[in-house]
Amino acid sequence: MKFPIILIVCILIAILAAGAAGDIIPNAVDGEKKVTVPARMRDLQEGLPDRNYYPINPPGGDDSETRLVLLGTTGGVTWYPAVDRASSSSALIVGDTIYIIDLGQGSTSRLSQAFNTQESDSGTSTFLENARALFFTHLHQDHIADYPSLLLIGPGTGLGTKTDPLTGNVTIVPFIVVGPADRGALEIDKSYYRARNGTIIYTDSANPSLVTPTPGTRQMTNLIWQAYAQTINDMTLDNAYRDFTKLVEIREIGGTYPGDIYFPAPDVDLGNGTTCAAMDPFEVYRDENVVVTATLVDHHQVYPAFAYRFDTREGSVVFSGDTGPDTRGNLEKLADGADILVHEVIDRAWIDERMGDPDQNTPAFALKTHLLTAHTPIDAVGSVASNCSVDTLVLNHIVPGNTPISHLLRAKDNFTGRLIIGQDMMEIPV
Ligand SMILES: [Zn+2]
Ligand SMILES: [Zn+2]
Repeated sequence: MKFPIILIVCILIAILAAGAAGDIIPNAVDGEKKVTVPARMRDLQEGLPDRNYYPINPPGGDDSETRLVLLGTTGGVTWYPAVDRASSSSALIVGDTIYIIDLGQGSTSRLSQAFNTQESDSGTSTFLENARALFFTHLHQDHIADYPSLLLIGPGTGLGTKTDPLTGNVTIVPFIVVGPADRGALEIDKSYYRARNGTIIYTDSANPSLVTPTPGTRQMTNLIWQAYAQTINDMTLDNAYRDFTKLVEIREIGGTYPGDIYFPAPDVDLGNGTTCAAMDPFEVYRDENVVVTATLVDHHQVYPAFAYRFDTREGSVVFSGDTGPDTRGNLEKLADGADILVHEVIDRAWIDERMGDPDQNTPAFALKTHLLTAHTPIDAVGSVASNCSVDTLVLNHIVPGNTPISHLLRAKDNFTGRLIIGQDMMEIPV
């Protein structure tokens, strides 16, 4: 069976590579660096679904040492009709090492499509040995939905381990997960939800300090281990897998465990939904390849919601996470002078079409205001990018996923740099 599959893969790659030659988004290239895009980009730009993907250069390949790969480029709690975008997720490649930013629905499949390129005699892949850390901007499902998949399937694919190339010995080097701590509270006014007989979910624990409606990154991870205990116990007891829980190291921003990350939180008023106040960027992670800094952005009611900046030897990339356009200057401080800003957008025309012009003081008015201030309308993102003084603006978390290209081009308003309309599996040199 193995030979025909390899043959088919090789033929597919050859076809894709041939079809992709010269396929560059007209507005995406300015200067020397070529942006690699899916082969049928022009079809995609008309909103047609596409099933062919350009092969991504593997980590440690010959090209630019540092590269941004978009794994998922939409957001929201749905699959949009006839569109093949996964939800928010990106990878930053530095040499051999993969850093992942968010992991929305469909993105672990993209991770495999992008990087699972080794041939192996063992019949299993170990490409996740190259994945060193994952950074959650916030804990909405379109940024975390594939996290259980990574935790459950990753241990069979090298997650949290390293193989010595000389001896073949495998050692545990935990995969690092950086994310927010427990938010601590829901918004005070739950009356609309209660009126609909809604149930608020709390974590279940004999320890009162662990009972919460807003678990943070560590508790979420522990609860995933518990929810999938049957299969994990079977795998580790019977099939000689390593202890899954030892393969992952959680570092919460604002958490209180040893190794957690100090969060110099500014004064906010969560009860009023005021979740963003002015602050200076702070460091959350550092190794031989990258220094990662973070700041609060405005994604009310979510608190905290972070943007991250990765500084590498070759350049800097900022991920806005989910945010409205007004971050009290925080994103501008974090992203100042960065090479690439990967920023979320929402289509104002789509919201208008769906929601019309609701009366003030109605739930619909509140929702519409929320969508336009806790996310960034396409026509507002250009100003944000200009104020950040970045060279390149990459649109991701495109909501809805089938937003027409003509609407997305409004991101050029008030921005004179290079605009790249994100597509899954797009590779951008840094
Ligand atoms: Zn989102
Ligand atoms: Zn969100």
